[in-house]
Amino acid sequence: MKNAFEAAGQYFEEAASVMDLSPNMKRLLLTPEREVKVQIAMKLDNGDIATFVGYRIQHNSARGPMKGGLRYHHEVDADEVLALASLMTWKTAVVDLPYGGAKGGISVRPKDLSPDELERLTRKFVDEIHDLIGPDKDIPAPDMGTNAQVMAWFVNQYEKFHGFNPACVTGKPIELYGAEGREEATGRGVGILTEALLRKFRKSLAESTVAIQGFGNVGTFTAEFIHRAGGKVVAISDVSGGIFNREGIDIPAALTWVKQKGSLAGFSGGDAISNESLLSLEVDVLIPAALGGVLTLENAEHVRAKYIVEAANGPITPEADLILRRRDIVVLPDILANAGGVTVSYFEWVQNQQYFRWDLNRIREELEKTMTRSFDKVWSIAEEKKIPLRTAAYLVGIGRVGRATVLGGI
Ligand code: GLU
Repeated sequence: MKNAFEAAGQYFEEAASVMDLSPNMKRLLLTPEREVKVQIAMKLDNGDIATFVGYRIQHNSARGPMKGGLRYHHEVDADEVLALASLMTWKTAVVDLPYGGAKGGISVRPKDLSPDELERLTRKFVDEIHDLIGPDKDIPAPDMGTNAQVMAWFVNQYEKFHGFNPACVTGKPIELYGAEGREEATGRGVGILTEALLRKFRKSLAESTVAIQGFGNVGTFTAEFIHRAGGKVVAISDVSGGIFNREGIDIPAALTWVKQKGSLAGFSGGDAISNESLLSLEVDVLIPAALGGVLTLENAEHVRAKYIVEAANGPITPEADLILRRRDIVVLPDILANAGGVTVSYFEWVQNQQYFRWDLNRIREELEKTMTRSFDKVWSIAEEKKIPLRTAAYLVGIGRVGRATVLGGI
């Protein structure tokens, strides 16, 4: 299996060859502007010393301040963060936000730390990188393993150095200049575009079956949106395993269960299935909403869904992508499908800069506009050039970043 870095490079390469980009331009667009790797040493609650490694990789700022999440996960390394940073560059460009791309992370198992330890870890990380980020430079946000609470510690620590500065990070709690609807945004965006995709094939969510891998921030809100739209979510899963119910899972009950128990373990709304077998269920839509690299050379032949919507970042390896393409399975790529999160992050940042608050309706309306406008653009390019949606999305993203770079001058 290719790692995330090679995978992102391969998808870039494919679009670059359709665009006839020169090798020098390709090199410029692939090379990150700055890569930061820091030591985070801290005392654990029991007095022991622990040392972690933190990253912030700033990939490209041709179109504006760099933007991207902060991931707390034990598999975080420099290659993965760079790949994810480059995805952010293309993602913000595909949905036409005035941002570049960045990503950060700490190699840690957040579940092994107490809330106090997580707070110290976050504050120490901010101590190391605060000079390199900021509302006009690079704006972090939640990603896997981080949430609004982590962003609250983050902004609080940043402000100790720089004074009142809510726009330095997004995904904050509402009480601390966060935006209504930021938490639901990625899942909602996935739902909106799943519906838009089905519509192109004269289908609707209400007559479709859906399997969702991952029941964290993205998976839960995606499931809720699809359920409300009348779609039948027949399978869900998280790290503890999955549940399958041909009649449709009671999503509100599953959401309540997870809120109370912390995971799906013990939820009895269907038959138990593994995360792996969820991927090969016979459904209309498969939505990987958890880790990267879950659809591979080994299991892509077994996929029986007609459409795959990439709610996670990089869930399909390039080898698997080729197999799915040959089998006429339509893939809606991550840099478009999951851009709802960063889109509402942008709305949060705009409100912070203006000291003005939008209501939830306005946020939802603007999100829908941004997502469907971007989808229509990518769809029409894919049709016109007879290329997969992924290549079309990269074409839009790379094209916008490339033009900004040339216009600005090297
Ligand atoms: N972590 C999210 C992503 O991968 C959101 C980033 C942001 O809001 O800046 O798109």
